Amino acid sequence: MTLEPVIGLEVHVQLKTDSKLFCRCSTAFGAEPNSQICPICSGHPGVLPVLNRKAVELLVKAGLGVGCEIATHSIFARKQYFYPDLPKAYQISQSDLPLARNGKLTITTADGKLKDIRINRIHLEEDAGKLLHAIGARELDYSLVDLNRSSIPLAECVSEPDLNSPEEAYTYLTTLKSIFQYLDISDCDMEKGSLRCDANVSLRPVGHKQLGTRAEIKNLNSFKAVKESILYEIKRQTEVLNTQGRVIQETRLWDDQKGVTVSMRSKEESHDYRYFPEPDLIPIQLTKEYLADVRTSLPELPDKKKVRFVTDYKLTEYDASVLIAERPLANYFELAVKAGGVALAKPICNWITNELLGILNSCTRSISQSPVSPEHLAELVALIQKRTITGKAAKEVFVEMFETLQSPSKIVDARGLKTVGDTATIEKWCEEAIAEMPKAVEEYKGGKERAIGSIVGLVMKKSQGKANPQLVNQILQKILSR
Ligand code: ADP
Ligand code: MG
Ligand code: ZN
Repeated sequence: MTLEPVIGLEVHVQLKTDSKLFCRCSTAFGAEPNSQICPICSGHPGVLPVLNRKAVELLVKAGLGVGCEIATHSIFARKQYFYPDLPKAYQISQSDLPLARNGKLTITTADGKLKDIRINRIHLEEDAGKLLHAIGARELDYSLVDLNRSSIPLAECVSEPDLNSPEEAYTYLTTLKSIFQYLDISDCDMEKGSLRCDANVSLRPVGHKQLGTRAEIKNLNSFKAVKESILYEIKRQTEVLNTQGRVIQETRLWDDQKGVTVSMRSKEESHDYRYFPEPDLIPIQLTKEYLADVRTSLPELPDKKKVRFVTDYKLTEYDASVLIAERPLANYFELAVKAGGVALAKPICNWITNELLGILNSCTRSISQSPVSPEHLAELVALIQKRTITGKAAKEVFVEMFETLQSPSKIVDARGLKTVGDTATIEKWCEEAIAEMPKAVEEYKGGKERAIGSIVGLVMKKSQGKANPQLVNQILQKILSR
């Protein structure tokens, strides 16, 4: 019996608001523990939450970005459980009537095909606090509670179980992240915890419709962990099915060090939470005008941008997909093209993807931190195109631009890197080279056309790389045909 993996992801992203979901406390990351709390977010009795308008707007954007229907009437619900990082003993979340539902995300699978992953819902909820069990490397024999994170707004995006491999799950996650970053609704930084993911994994015989029993994996703190834990879980469940015959429904924790999932608790059912409508908050009512306004404020999303890059700039699908992967990168490219002209789009793209991204990667900087401005990059590409400098000299100039932030023309002038274009000088070098390489000349005249390459090489050497190689070639051919 061949088994097929079935995966559904629950993704939490922290929405980019200045204040928390139901109070005015700051959401800034990294502050002194418990310095950003008040009676509301620390769960005192008798206080009243007031909804943050911005959080609703960001959630609506998230929903529209992945094609969801947005509810014009939506309510909050209490999700009840006890844990020391949750002082109210309930989380304000949404259950029935979430803000967004029935969306889809299109991913490109390994064989290049497009696949739609249905999104069940995106709802708004508050985060819990954080427990500290160690200070730096020192393990504590007690735990500390930090409520700075308590009540920070989260969007929870729940996929349908439409993913069928660890790679598809990974692609889904990176595609979702890219869209949310384009929408500027979240940093989506897994390291800082602003994007978190739980993976639900089950197996079923190929061809069957009915879902198998799933395990939910928590504690995934990198994209790599998502992929590896699912792979591990598929292997584990395959073995269980082949030996004991039955997977138990449970929540499992991913151990990044050991590369295994371990059982944490039997999976709770949603009725265990005793969801009920939050009595302290009125329903969210959104007007058609409001939704239309948010819709018009949406930026161009990656898919559309890709198509436009291919048609407007004559780029390949591959080039376009590299450039659109991050919005700041796509912006950088378009600024450079604006400065250099559409005719230079392809060489500009090449310089960005090869040289610029290469050097940025090697010093772990992002495109937003590039010391080379888009205008300077365009200028450099134009200098090559006009044959003012050779491609080889351009690479040197580029490294200096990166280090000194100077314009390429300045560097070219200061270092005397301009190609020698005057025919007389080049002719002199050609005559010299011909005299010095009688064997190559003889071979060339005897019909071996490639032999001219070594003579061109010598001329280039004499010019210290500054001669225009095309011109050298022409002049040599002219002299040798005499
Ligand atoms: P909860 O985890 O709160 O019980 P749901 O039942 O809504 O919530 O499911 C959560 C996630 O688990 C969804 O992404 C869904 O696609 C996925 N899922 C549900 N059943 C299965 C299954 N049998 N195998 C794999 N994923 C599943
Ligand atoms: Mg769940
Ligand atoms: Zn507060």
